[in-house]
Amino acid sequence: MKSVIVNDPKKITIENNYSFISAGIGIDKKNHIVNYRVNEDLALGNPDFLLPVVLEPAMSMKRGIVCNFAISEKLAKAIPDIQGIYRRLDPRLKIVPVDHGKDPLHSLTQAREIGCLFSGGVDSFYTLLKHKHEITKVILVHGFDIPLSDRILRKQTANMVHKVASGLNKGVVEVETDMRRNFLNRYLGIADTISPFFASVALLLSSQFKKIYFPACFHKPLSCSAIGHYRAYLDPLWSNGHLQIIHDGDDVNRIEKIAFIAKNNLVREHLHVCWMNNNGVDNCGYCGKCLRTMAALRVVGQLEYVNTFKRPLKLARLSKLVLSKTERIFAGDTLRYAQQLGRDPEIIAALNRCLSNKHGFNIKMWLISILEKLRQSYYWSRFYNIFPEKFARCIRAKVYAIILK
Ligand SMILES: [Zn+2]
Repeated sequence: MKSVIVNDPKKITIENNYSFISAGIGIDKKNHIVNYRVNEDLALGNPDFLLPVVLEPAMSMKRGIVCNFAISEKLAKAIPDIQGIYRRLDPRLKIVPVDHGKDPLHSLTQAREIGCLFSGGVDSFYTLLKHKHEITKVILVHGFDIPLSDRILRKQTANMVHKVASGLNKGVVEVETDMRRNFLNRYLGIADTISPFFASVALLLSSQFKKIYFPACFHKPLSCSAIGHYRAYLDPLWSNGHLQIIHDGDDVNRIEKIAFIAKNNLVREHLHVCWMNNNGVDNCGYCGKCLRTMAALRVVGQLEYVNTFKRPLKLARLSKLVLSKTERIFAGDTLRYAQQLGRDPEIIAALNRCLSNKHGFNIKMWLISILEKLRQSYYWSRFYNIFPEKFARCIRAKVYAIILK
């Protein structure tokens, strides 16, 4: 069996206390370099953080993994369970051997911080506010949903996250990585890259953090078979003995999260849910995600106090939305919540109409998801960089507006 070779990572500390870490992943004769940049002088502990990057791609390629370093004992023991979850998601994946050294017992007893992945959305605000007395630092990661090439949005997002953190007297760790663009997008078999991507970032920080919360997207998973729900089972398995990873927030549904966070002033000034990102960190108020969130805010009586939506909620547009399977879960929860309150017949009618729309294949959203995948890819980002950034953003906004019209 051919193998995926993972080499010991290297750390170079550069000026202003930024740390730069890179590692090579060998597949056949190609050596893929993945890079991480952290805004702190990071002690590089156990190289466990490379395992989430390569495990599922290796299963997809039916190749064993050879790590030229040691993996911590706890994470090594979890490898069969992690592979089991991946197999349930996609039976075509093959269980593969992972060859690694024994844990060298890195001394990481100085890890004291408690963190929370934070992007300014509903899920991360819920987890941050719920655990605000315990959390010491929020973690912002560049290179997942915000492409590395989108420097304007990255700067605005970083400013927003620093303002929220400062409002709660917390620190901010910023991690920038090309791991998704350079490796996961090329080799990952299943569509959802969230868990291995963020597990890798969390494990990279395990010399500092003893616990990191991963905000959940979904309410109480019944099984790990569904895409999205599997994270409740998979996220904690990446814990490595030094760091505990907690999948947090599946105790409530989306509308209950919104009811919990919406009266907080930081949420009112900084909530960011729009995935279109045409208006920087402001929400477009036009796409499906904005409309669903605005509807939920209106149901809990807080929409007028949230200042981050560019347009007022148009119920006619909400009524015409074509929802995906998962979006129907969120909209259904909002409808039931509104019906229980029974005080806003207009929004109840709009949600009812929206949920009665035939669901299924939505060609507009499919087209946009293809364009977004392209934008995250390595070659596209090189092409994208040819143009002045403002011009590229403007063209993208116009194309998406035409598609969504
Ligand atoms: Zn939007």
